[in-house]
Amino acid sequence: MLNARMNMPKVQGERLWSRLMEMAQIGATSNGGCNRQALTDADIAGRRLLTQWGEAAGCSVRLDPVGNIFVRRPGTDDSLPVVLTGSHLDTQPTGGKFDGIYGVLAGLEVLESLNDHAVTTLHPLEVAVWCNEEGCRFPMAMMGSAVWSGRLPLEMAWALTDQEGTSVRHELQRADINMEAPLSRQAVKAAFEAHIEQGPILEQHEKMIGLVTGVQHMSRHEIVVYGQEAHAGAMPMNLRRDPIRVLAGVLPALYGAAERRGPDARLTVGVIETLPGSPNTVPGRLRFTVDLRHPDARHYQSLCEELGQIVKSALAQHALRGELRCVWEAPGIAFDANCVEAVRKAAAALGYSTMEMISGAGHDSCNTAYVAPTAMIFVPCAGGLSHNEAESANPSNLEAGANVLLHAMLSLAIDSRRGPPLCMNPEIE
Ligand SMILES: [Zn+2]
Repeated sequence: MLNARMNMPKVQGERLWSRLMEMAQIGATSNGGCNRQALTDADIAGRRLLTQWGEAAGCSVRLDPVGNIFVRRPGTDDSLPVVLTGSHLDTQPTGGKFDGIYGVLAGLEVLESLNDHAVTTLHPLEVAVWCNEEGCRFPMAMMGSAVWSGRLPLEMAWALTDQEGTSVRHELQRADINMEAPLSRQAVKAAFEAHIEQGPILEQHEKMIGLVTGVQHMSRHEIVVYGQEAHAGAMPMNLRRDPIRVLAGVLPALYGAAERRGPDARLTVGVIETLPGSPNTVPGRLRFTVDLRHPDARHYQSLCEELGQIVKSALAQHALRGELRCVWEAPGIAFDANCVEAVRKAAAALGYSTMEMISGAGHDSCNTAYVAPTAMIFVPCAGGLSHNEAESANPSNLEAGANVLLHAMLSLAIDSRRGPPLCMNPEIE
């Protein structure tokens, strides 16, 4: 086993780390993070650097009209569907060095390592840089992958504007992106995305690799309750129409409902707002939000239904009028079993510790999963911190994740009749 492991091609962890650090200098913030929001000067500079690295590795680089970049290493039969990987280079305004960037540079590292080891693949390999994943400057998270997968019309993406009124269309033109380029989606055999976990689970369990089997179900609900404004001193309690009574009943019932659905349930009451919002007036109106998430479809559905029942019975109990509506819902995604298996086998062959997990956050892979078999690879990040300038990850975990990506991609891209590739260049280990 040890010998087999020694003969497996590996990535160069130091090259991956030094590129992560070089990319982090573009849009670097004084607190050690990055501000490289989509299609700003910094993002455009980051995209150019990545393009240079891809071309220097002998790859062809193609852009589509929504600004997605595809770095391609040809296959021995280049007409076959690609084995794809990728993520995003854009960041939050106070973002870190790894969220997204790691997935792109781990993909580039896979291509470079195959060059180092003179390994050819039957299928072509591509690294995608998805444009505007974060959705903080232009209000549409995962924009580029949504257009590519056909889930968002191109014109709608072009028309998005930032707070200054500048459009995506304008910024793509400014970045010299050919908007006439065809929006044809290449055939994809399998897609993988390596990403920092953005949560604390791997670290807590002391595991190096998360085998991501899917993304949880999530939705946001808004509840409005109508009462009657009245004097806090003069109106007796039994004559009030106080909407806070409903909240007082709903909250314990709702937390109980979430708890009964196990530790994977997520319930967040993020907004509670009263009108007129005066300390000595009984509110005339209450608005609050409920964000519900669960990886299990049945638990998720029943939790949503129970929310409706809880609100309805609290309104009836206090004889108040109100309404509940779902304002946003993203159905959960089960990743492709074969792709997850490819990740599992790669991690096992490399001898890394693993655990299965569900992503709590959305990723570009949610979009690729609609049109191609997809799976994700998570690596730990310090304290589970992300969307934070202090975001940090351990170089050896990042290297391990890139090795898993390399072998998961290889297992689907090689000519299976010829057996697994060994290191062709014994000088490099
Ligand atoms: Zn990300």
